[in-house]
Amino acid sequence: MFIDGAWQEMERRFDITNPADGSVLESIGDGGAEEATQAVEAAHAAFAGWAGTTAYERAAILSRAHKIMLERRDELARTMTLEQGKPLRAATLEVGYGADFLSWFAEEAKRIEGRTIPSARRDQRFLAIRQPVGVVAAITPWNYPVSMITRKVAPALAAGCTVVLKPAEATPLTAVAMMRVFEDAGVPKGVVNLVTCSDPRPVGDVFVNHPKVRKLTFTGSTAVGKMLAGKAAANMKRVSCELGGHAPFLVFEDADPVHAAKGAQLVKFLNTGQACISPNRIFVHRANLEPFVATLTERVAKLKVGSGLDEGVAIGPLVNEAAVEKMSRQVEDARDRGAGVACGGSRLTDGGLDRGHFYAPTVLTDVTPDMLIYREETFGPIAPIIPFEDESEVIAMANDTEYGLAAYIYTRDIARAFRTFEALDFGIIGINDINPTSAAAPFGGMKDSGLGREGSHEGLDEYLETKLGGFAI
Ligand code: ADP
Repeated sequence: MFIDGAWQEMERRFDITNPADGSVLESIGDGGAEEATQAVEAAHAAFAGWAGTTAYERAAILSRAHKIMLERRDELARTMTLEQGKPLRAATLEVGYGADFLSWFAEEAKRIEGRTIPSARRDQRFLAIRQPVGVVAAITPWNYPVSMITRKVAPALAAGCTVVLKPAEATPLTAVAMMRVFEDAGVPKGVVNLVTCSDPRPVGDVFVNHPKVRKLTFTGSTAVGKMLAGKAAANMKRVSCELGGHAPFLVFEDADPVHAAKGAQLVKFLNTGQACISPNRIFVHRANLEPFVATLTERVAKLKVGSGLDEGVAIGPLVNEAAVEKMSRQVEDARDRGAGVACGGSRLTDGGLDRGHFYAPTVLTDVTPDMLIYREETFGPIAPIIPFEDESEVIAMANDTEYGLAAYIYTRDIARAFRTFEALDFGIIGINDINPTSAAAPFGGMKDSGLGREGSHEGLDEYLETKLGGFAI
């Protein structure tokens, strides 16, 4: 725990395991309601001081954190690979992406501006100012253990808020390493606090009920996000949520099927498919089906699976056994209902992989709406291909989900690109592009995929209140 600028050891501890081989990496303090309450009190006590600093002072500290993070890039990446499983190269890229939020929000802190508003009365002046919301409770997931922290903490600190962070139980070691970055960058005591725990519920209860928490920011599953957002709303706390996705990937008849298949492979299998923006339903026009499936299958079959620390590995383990079982369930169900398995389709156990949570990168063909995988978020290395024939049909199919996070469109027709971009009910759309994310761009979903945006000035607004002054003169 890191509470009020001090590291606290605890007698109650829990083990962090390596998902590639099941070995115990370390044990860590197992906090609960008591520690969460202490952390909220500390964040509250630090709030007035931090909110009173200038944007230039906060920017200088965030910039220092950015520099330190990059100096520790290798160490942070290694910790991430060990506890989360992603290949070292991907972990290293994530540290860079995570650090971007610190530098971008360091700059943006200086652009928190209010406005004057003309009044209908001659003797009145209106002034609207922006102020930090107060203590922020942040809950982060295990799939992007570093960047999900900076995506919340950087704008919160830039705005002048103080933070209590609860990372996922699978990946607290990266969070500890990030707290050291903030500490060494000179973040004053109590401004960022960390509570680690094996059972998130008591800590979550403090976050949604404690009157001194003014905002909850959550990234994780839709079920937990809805539950926490409901409780936080009952206490009138500000809420932002980044939840599940079910991204459609549309390949039209005028797209280059080979280029599209290469893109699909790269984005689908990123982080072993454990990303909320991962394509979950790949719709391919029948005219392009054959070359698309051939290219995708050839590339997926070559992906090397193993420990993220091993050279050349592209696909690491899944996070736990439940995830492996979910893959098996979705593939078996699809197979039973008539899908083809172009490659993969089973758990991997050879060469010591049985000690970890490995599933073969899989391509499923002829997927239909009655299959589980068509409806349920996969969060794993399975690419389901659904043939289509008509633009309006595929837009209706793509939108026919409760989720609305990311979507991808492949077409060479500019008018179709615009039409489809406007017609899809998703918050982030890649058009012939598989990486529509950046610290400077708003990230977030519609419908059951969440509330609010992260990154960009929208991401800063989430941590600011507007206060109006009406001055009679
Ligand atoms: P996943 O199923 O992908 O692990 P979760 O939504 O369960 O997604 O986890 C995302 C984050 O939410 C993690 O930090 C986890 O500890 C936290 N979390 C899960 N359940 C609760 C809860 N009842 N209260 C507070 N936090 C929770």
